[in-house]
Amino acid sequence: MMFDQLSSAISEVAKNFGPKRRISEKSIQSALRQVRRALLDADVNVDVADTLVEGVRARSLGSEILDGVTADQQFIKAMYDELLDLMGGDSTLSPLASQQAKSVPAATLAVGTPENPAVILLAGLQGAGKTTAGAKLALYLKEREVNYDMVDKDLDSAKMLASRLPTRNRNVLLVAADVYRPAAIQQLEILGKSIGIEVFSKGTEADPVDIVTEAIAKAKAEGFDTVIVDTAGRQVIDVDLMNELKNIKKVSNPSETLLIVDAMTGQEAASLTAAFNDAVGLTGAILTKMDGDSRGGAAVSVRGVSGKPIKFIGIGEKVADLEPFYPDRMASRILGMGDVISLVEKAAAQVSDEDALKMQKKMREATFDFDDFTKQSELVSKMGNLAGIAKMMPGVGNQLNMNQIRDVEARLKKNKAMINSMTKKERMSPELLITDSTARSRLMRITKGSGCRFEEGLQFMSEFQKMRTMMSRMQKSMGSAMDPSLAG
Ligand code: GDP
Repeated sequence: MMFDQLSSAISEVAKNFGPKRRISEKSIQSALRQVRRALLDADVNVDVADTLVEGVRARSLGSEILDGVTADQQFIKAMYDELLDLMGGDSTLSPLASQQAKSVPAATLAVGTPENPAVILLAGLQGAGKTTAGAKLALYLKEREVNYDMVDKDLDSAKMLASRLPTRNRNVLLVAADVYRPAAIQQLEILGKSIGIEVFSKGTEADPVDIVTEAIAKAKAEGFDTVIVDTAGRQVIDVDLMNELKNIKKVSNPSETLLIVDAMTGQEAASLTAAFNDAVGLTGAILTKMDGDSRGGAAVSVRGVSGKPIKFIGIGEKVADLEPFYPDRMASRILGMGDVISLVEKAAAQVSDEDALKMQKKMREATFDFDDFTKQSELVSKMGNLAGIAKMMPGVGNQLNMNQIRDVEARLKKNKAMINSMTKKERMSPELLITDSTARSRLMRITKGSGCRFEEGLQFMSEFQKMRTMMSRMQKSMGSAMDPSLAG
């Protein structure tokens, strides 16, 4: 099975850690060497393997071992975070946030309209699975995403879930523009018929650029919102075919140009993606044949080598065998230790929980000060940046203007600088900066010291005060519900 070797090598490495409280340079050195070897054996690109190993070293060294987990478990979690980031995930999301993110496909494709259909170009070497991927993607975009596992049990919740997920039931036109392999057109027509998707073709004599131009006109005339183009397959990278692809891009203004690469070719898949990206520009890759017994190097290397994400994976020969690429699921699969990851995540969440409880108590007692403000901000930043958090909130993401979010983030940075310029006493007694007779001169000193304007200091104080009042009010109304010791 794919990744088996890599998983077992990593679990061997982790066993050697013993019950340490801190991971030291010495204890980690041979482990990292073994991890590096295991990655190279799995056909991971050497630069990617080195980046990964350095990242794991940086994450592990000197970090306290969390209560309830062992050094080896924490080491595995560091590997997981590094793999996740490397494949395009985000390890800074809190466990809770990443769980929410898990229900959202890693790749979202632009939605077109019949007036302005979204064009998806597929390119790839012959035999990679390009034609099959075209049909798979068409079916994926046509179907509405329903969690079929749930349908049997509870149709209503399945429907509700589906209504919250991106609506996909798109009207897709498949375009046969691979005129060099006669069988490709026929293959696409047969596949299209089997899934009820119309295939536009003009035989093998027509010019691919004309075919695509006509197909888009047809889509607009007949109400297709998505056009998937199967472009020429090639045996090797070929200048003429690259130029043809460039010309097709020019006339079709695609929202996606995806390279179909075969996972069985290992890190070759990654170099190929980089080469295509340099030549014609890609938005991502579809990694096919992930059901085979390749060693996993492709999945780990593609993004690191080419800078382009894997958007989907092919997991079988059937038309339904396509999945969005989820970096977190892939990282767990590679390590084969999902239970360890969630254990460490829970331990980390526990720490945050304790912080949150302490914070609640402070707020209730209205002793919330600037040190708490800093902690609060840090709790938020542990969950990722504001934009990322906002995007995950149902209904909020699209309404928030990115400029507004950036403004808020810039302000938070300034606030932090001001807090850093305060004395310990000032941080603990906000009155000194708000109501005290020395408040004005103190605030002048602080704003000057932190490179902020005095008005910014005043604004911060007024916001801080509002926040303090709001929190103690919120705490009073919610306190008894949140804290059992206050019940009754
Ligand atoms: P093209 O030349 O790139 O258009 O490749 P095809 O779409 O004709 O696929 C080549 C072969 O790979 C066919 O036999 C497909 O059934 C097979 N294939 C494509 N995708 C997958 C996949 O995800 N898993 C497996 N096992 N086979 C695949």
